[in-house]
Amino acid sequence: MDPRPGWFYGFVNATQTPAPLTAADRCDRCGAQAYVRVLLPSGELLFCAHHAREHADKFSSVATHVQDETDRLHAEHGAGAGVAG
Ligand SMILES: [Zn+2]
Repeated sequence: MDPRPGWFYGFVNATQTPAPLTAADRCDRCGAQAYVRVLLPSGELLFCAHHAREHADKFSSVATHVQDETDRLHAEHGAGAGVAG
C-alpha cells in the first residue's frame, strides 16, 4: 500500500514561485481555469473557485501558502462564472 494520501501528493511541481495565475493554469480536479494556488512542502495544487472551497478543509492544514485570486473571477467574467454549483 502506498502510504501517501493519493492525489493530494500526486501532483508535484518543482516551481514554487507564487507567480500570478493565468488562463493556462488549470484546476487539478476538473480542468477549469484555476484561481487558487495552494503551495505545499512537496509541491503545489491548482483549483478553480469551486474546488478550492470543496477541498479547503483538506489543504488548509498542510499548505504553506494559499494564493487566492478568486476575486479576479468576478472582475473578468462576472459573478458566478466558472463556479459549478
Ligand atoms: Zn475544479
